[in-house]
Amino acid sequence: MTQRRYIIGGNWKMNTDLETGMALASQVADVASTCEACDVVVYPPFPYLQAIDSVISSSPVALGSQNFWPEASGAFTGEVSCDMLKDLSVTSVLVGHSERRHVLHESNALIAQKVDFAIERDFQVVLCVGETIEQREAGNTLDIVLGQLQSGLESVNHESMKNIVIAYEPVWAIGTGKTASAEDAQAVHGAIREALASRYDDNVASSTRIQYGGSVKPENAKELFACPDIDGALVGGAALSGESFAAIIEAAC
Ligand code: PEP
Repeated sequence: MTQRRYIIGGNWKMNTDLETGMALASQVADVASTCEACDVVVYPPFPYLQAIDSVISSSPVALGSQNFWPEASGAFTGEVSCDMLKDLSVTSVLVGHSERRHVLHESNALIAQKVDFAIERDFQVVLCVGETIEQREAGNTLDIVLGQLQSGLESVNHESMKNIVIAYEPVWAIGTGKTASAEDAQAVHGAIREALASRYDDNVASSTRIQYGGSVKPENAKELFACPDIDGALVGGAALSGESFAAIIEAAC
């Protein structure tokens, strides 16, 4: 089986200011420099990308973007292009995050378009998938998650899968303090990996990293990372504290 490196992402959402963001990035750079077993990515707000890059550029921490618009340039007021992000040293992008699906109403079609656009431009794409509480309670978790997976990867070929990371993030666990049990999370991660094997092959399935996201904190990180199909975490709230994000990174080291 391919050895997968853990990947820990810190999604800062619309939080921090310039000063606290730079201080946080510096703490993340310090801890990431001591951990060789995992990749660390931070996703700061757009206006701080350049400043955060100046803090992390000589560390192993990668710079990510929470969003972009899938066109090269033009009349898209308020949007940001992939080339602009490249100029700022961004290498990873989030696509399909639950807040973009459910708060900003991004459709599966737009999400697939974004995946293709960013893949063509050689970004690492973190494709987020996850069910709402109503969908889970109705017993539809796998239908929803595997449907979002299939739709997001519709045009992604074998070769491009090396640039894809999947983040399984149950919507009911994001920012709520409720985490999926390690057993429930593992069951969905295992199903995602099986779906990758049938859509692609065993090699793609065993080498694609699948992060868990949803109220990951220092207290539950180790148990989640011990699951065979959980390859790290996408972290929101706990990524805003240098101490707690460091403890999560250390749990993967
Ligand atoms: C997220 O924003 O992707 C996330 C998982 O948030 P939190 O860790 O706060 O649940």
